[in-house]
Amino acid sequence: MRKLLSTVILLILAAPAWAQTADRLYVMDCGHNSAKDQSRWSPGVNVGKPIEQSDTCTLIKHGAQWLLWDTGYQDAIADQPVDTPVGHATRAKKLAAQLAELGVKPSDVGFVAISHTHPDHVGNVDMFATSTLLIQKAEIDWAFATGKPAPFKKDRSMKLLAGDLDVFGDGSVTLLSTSGHTPGHQSLLVHLGKSGWVVLTGDAAHFRDNWDNDRVPSMNTSAEQTHASRALLAKIVAEKKAALWINHDLPTFEGLKHSPQFYD
Ligand SMILES: [Zn+2]
Repeated sequence: MRKLLSTVILLILAAPAWAQTADRLYVMDCGHNSAKDQSRWSPGVNVGKPIEQSDTCTLIKHGAQWLLWDTGYQDAIADQPVDTPVGHATRAKKLAAQLAELGVKPSDVGFVAISHTHPDHVGNVDMFATSTLLIQKAEIDWAFATGKPAPFKKDRSMKLLAGDLDVFGDGSVTLLSTSGHTPGHQSLLVHLGKSGWVVLTGDAAHFRDNWDNDRVPSMNTSAEQTHASRALLAKIVAEKKAALWINHDLPTFEGLKHSPQFYD
């Protein structure tokens, strides 16, 4: 009996596979951009051609913990759409409302991780005043350089990274350093029990055609780093047979289940 018991205990200890997945992943609508000229992202290609772009936030449940990946356009845009230098930004639903629909309060979200500090990704960071912000140090140094408007309040809880981070320490959710679009850009790799591996690109590429043709947007801070980061993501996608979800690729967004539905 004692031997059987110890065998069972050993089996339980030897089966960490259960713990190596996140429980749920919710895809949230964090805005829409009607862009005037897609060649901003694909220099010399599709010049003057408009493009419709999604803007996505992702909420991940890991045990009793929540991680929010990107915060989208600021919620105020739901009340008042804005014209930006690149197009017309709208928001069909507020992030706060989508969280409330799930019964999640901003103070329940322990970690907020952002791909980078452009306004369509950090619009609601200040809503999560008590969360720990997971961000590359290189991104903070760049975003808060003198003379630039601050993307969010700097006086807050932050974990400054210098490379990849295994967020929960079990390989289920990993921040990947993928610089190039900005100096401290990052992507997110998530492992789910039924759905398998998913790579959330951030702006490593803006839409499918740019990914397929490895085109580098004119605003990227390093073309060389952009190519290298995409090669890294492509390797991970191939190795893990991961789904590749490109944040601003509208056909990708439209093909996904949206919160309150979820992936598990
Ligand atoms: Zn961007």
